[in-house]
Amino acid sequence: IRARVNLVAGSEGGVLGLVTVIEDITYLKEMDQKKSEFVAMVSHELKAPLAVLDTQAKVILKTVGHTLDDKQQKMLYRMQERIKGAVEMINDLLDLTRIEDQGVVRQKSPLDLGEYATEARELWDASAKERGHKLSLELKEGLPEIMADPGAIREVLMNLVGNAVRYTPDGGEILVSVCLEKGYVCLEVSDNGIGVAPEDQKRIFDRFFRVKSEHTRHIVGTGLGLPIVKAIAEEHQGRISLESRLGKGSTFKVYFPALV
Ligand code: ADP
Repeated sequence: IRARVNLVAGSEGGVLGLVTVIEDITYLKEMDQKKSEFVAMVSHELKAPLAVLDTQAKVILKTVGHTLDDKQQKMLYRMQERIKGAVEMINDLLDLTRIEDQGVVRQKSPLDLGEYATEARELWDASAKERGHKLSLELKEGLPEIMADPGAIREVLMNLVGNAVRYTPDGGEILVSVCLEKGYVCLEVSDNGIGVAPEDQKRIFDRFFRVKSEHTRHIVGTGLGLPIVKAIAEEHQGRISLESRLGKGSTFKVYFPALV
């Protein structure tokens, strides 16, 4: 059952009354459930043939690769890359469906977000260096813990830090920080990269949305990373926000309720 209460304004600007709408949304829930089951089933079924294709490409390259010309070898390598991309998209879709329907969340326990931010910095350090980025970490002292699923938190950091590294032109500055804001522990990932235009900011958390520009065209992705981060934040009674200016950089903030 879904109940909505609306205020009815009078012509003088005062409140004329209240309208309460009570709806039975069982059918909506059932449709949603069916849709998710379908996505999960199709995704799962697609993984098996892709695994077969991947193995076959590998075997061809290994056994007769040396007899092929450059162009043929490149085709096979590109085929493997495409297969890898498709498998990543399927995994992301499965993740998102699982989070949205079953409300992830494997196992929540008290954890220190700073520790996970430190781990993410270490993980991304080599890739950042390769691109000439400065990747820094800033942690406030004595931060409270949050109640969260460790795997989900790693996924949040993986996506946000990964995006900052990938979408910032070489030689950029990326800062990962954790602080306390009004009862919420806030994870902040900021970069001085390409930024996101105001009209794209509205859609950036939508499934499959990717900014189409000269800067992003060559970067491979699925458009599922940010929807996953948003679903995880909401699953932890938190939220995500973005502040960004085109050409200047972006700051993503994820808020988690602090444990008292
Ligand atoms: P993906 O990176 O796989 O495309 P995401 O959902 O993580 O999917 O991101 C969606 C889009 O948002 C990206 O394609 C990119 O255009 C934009 N984006 C994400 N992070 C940043 C960032 N730090 N700076 C600029 N653009 C970004």
